[in-house]
Amino acid sequence: MALRTSDHNNYLPIIKYRILKRAWKLTLGSALVLALIITGFWAFRVEIAKVTYQFALSQIDTNLTEKLADGIHVYVCGAGSPLPDPKRGGSCLGILAGADAFIFDAGSGGSRTLTTMGFPFDKLRRIFITHYHSDHIDGLGELLMQAWISGHRTKPITVVGPVGVETVLNGFLQAYSLDRDYRIKHHKSEIVNEGGFGGVASTFDLTDDYDRVYEVNGVLITAFRVDHRPVIPAVGYRVDYGSRSVVISGDTAYDERVITVARETDLLIHEALNRDMVKQLEELFIDRGLANNAALMHDTLDYHTSPTEAAQIAARADARELLLYHIAPPLPINLLNPMFLDGVDEYFDGKVTIAEDGILISMPSSSKAINHTYLGP
Ligand SMILES: [Zn+2]
Ligand SMILES: [Zn+2]
Repeated sequence: MALRTSDHNNYLPIIKYRILKRAWKLTLGSALVLALIITGFWAFRVEIAKVTYQFALSQIDTNLTEKLADGIHVYVCGAGSPLPDPKRGGSCLGILAGADAFIFDAGSGGSRTLTTMGFPFDKLRRIFITHYHSDHIDGLGELLMQAWISGHRTKPITVVGPVGVETVLNGFLQAYSLDRDYRIKHHKSEIVNEGGFGGVASTFDLTDDYDRVYEVNGVLITAFRVDHRPVIPAVGYRVDYGSRSVVISGDTAYDERVITVARETDLLIHEALNRDMVKQLEELFIDRGLANNAALMHDTLDYHTSPTEAAQIAARADARELLLYHIAPPLPINLLNPMFLDGVDEYFDGKVTIAEDGILISMPSSSKAINHTYLGP
């Protein structure tokens, strides 16, 4: 017998009741399972942490450098400016060229990032400084300690720079002299060699705009003047090893001399400040009544290079790749990167990368390849 409409309606409350009952049971069941998982995690949190720590230890690669091919390897240990950026510390670049390693600038945090990246401190031959703004030297003390202890040094590292390097180095040596004594007393002499502490200043005074400042073991390092006025002297460096090369601009406004030095280089590492973005920061400080901060932002505009200017330099030098560093303003999320790079592709058609701490760029001698790997935390 066919049901009438009114009979259908009588069944509906029963069906709804059953669905609700099932849904309730399911919710209650899920909540119980979730509570059990959370309780389990809490009860075994120490054991879970121990297993996680063991796993983390097993992942540490203490032999990373030995696996790298002969060539030039660039360790980005500080891609930032003085403005705080969670992805970028103070200015620092490590370079392994053949069997020898070098560090260019000693910004804060650089030493820690290099350690995380497995930088070969035992192969460190020189620390080069571009100029004496604090964001390029404030990690020098930490770096000297790391070079001494991790590098198992028996004599001080040579710190090379234009006029002024001895003043900076002597200050750090004085500040670290007490810790030097503690370390020597605490560790055995074969672990921490007394003679390996600290650094020796080596000053160069460029008579021309360019000059060779290091030439050993197939590695040629050329220093060149840049325009970071009123900061004088300020220099950049070019590193050549075999057929591969890297140019580091240091801090500079647009400077034709970088184009000359960077001619057909594999990798131009150029500083970059986006003026529109920094101007917006300046306006924000004015709006908030922070006149000093606003003035500081304004003053940075005239002695740095914009990303589009850096792209023009890379194009005119016929560089193969451009790595932007000394990034200002901070770019804490990648979502901001297109704004920072706006217009860059109109000038340079090679690969352009915004540097972040932890990037390793490898240029093996055996090929023309330029490989990027992330070794950060
Ligand atoms: Zn700087
Ligand atoms: Zn500077």
